[in-house]
Amino acid sequence: MRGVIMHAPGDVRVEQREKPSIIEPSDAIIRLSATCICGSDLWPYRGIEHADHAPMGHEYVGVVEQIGADVKTVAVGDFVVGSFVASDNSCEICQAGYQSRCIHNVMMGGIGTQAEYARIPLADGTLVATPGQPDEDLIPSLLAASDVLGTGWFAAVAAEAGPGKTIAVVGDGAVGLSAILAAQQLGAERIIAFSRHPERQALAREFGATDIVEERGAEGAARIKEMTGGYGAHGVVEAVGTQESMWQAINSARPGGYVGYVGVGHGVELNGLELFFTGIHLHGGPAPVRRFLPELIQLIWDRKIDPGKVFDLTLPLEEAAEGYQAMDERRATKVLLTL
Ligand SMILES: [Zn+2]
Repeated sequence: MRGVIMHAPGDVRVEQREKPSIIEPSDAIIRLSATCICGSDLWPYRGIEHADHAPMGHEYVGVVEQIGADVKTVAVGDFVVGSFVASDNSCEICQAGYQSRCIHNVMMGGIGTQAEYARIPLADGTLVATPGQPDEDLIPSLLAASDVLGTGWFAAVAAEAGPGKTIAVVGDGAVGLSAILAAQQLGAERIIAFSRHPERQALAREFGATDIVEERGAEGAARIKEMTGGYGAHGVVEAVGTQESMWQAINSARPGGYVGYVGVGHGVELNGLELFFTGIHLHGGPAPVRRFLPELIQLIWDRKIDPGKVFDLTLPLEEAAEGYQAMDERRATKVLLTL
């Protein structure tokens, strides 16, 4: 089969890979219908994380081709969506809704779903079948549910978005934009998007942002305080993962407020004394996308949300290298790869 391999930072190739087969009786093999490139794939691409002949990709939708002897909840031929972390969905951590930290979790990035086929461990716990075979135009949105939508949704929930609340969103990438959509669906009264990019501002507004702030860092946080009577936002989503973005989020929240942080932290250090006096709740980490998948799939199926709009470039899998470059150069927010 064909699949993406990152030989070294900046060196992405589509190559012949061995087609996966069932290893554990709880595995399923899926034939991918579409896959995509994640903002977090740029960390190794830019040399900030290690990359040495690594299979790439952790987002996926597709059709079940084969199941192991123990698989009961999905069948051959089902169209399925899964999270970027495989989970048993039965341990105490999963039952509490934190499937991405399942005691048996398997990171799908190690398997590499930017490929024609993928082995899905713990298939019963990981995969959710759609109500039927989706129309072609629903596939981008279902794929978004696999990571960015689910992550943005968790961030909005962690930021306690809801009726009467003011929610600020740091990060105008696919996750930040999805968090805006989530905050809107969860009933937030006011949604403030930090963004300097006209196209992203437009999509932010379409997804439900009521205000746009172009300032960043301490200045950005000061703007939120000004806009909220000096209090700060009730909840803030952090969807970048840098020192500046993390403090921008923390300082935009009011005392007693909530920060839902889902940007993968790189070089983020929190000074204990400064954090102490903020008096905020911090809740985040790798999003338990699996918790939200049934609800998100239904909203997409019923055409109530259209998160697939975050994809602004579509390329065939064979042109994955161009997709990485486009995202690295910020010519694209998120790239969908067709198969
Ligand atoms: Zn578990």
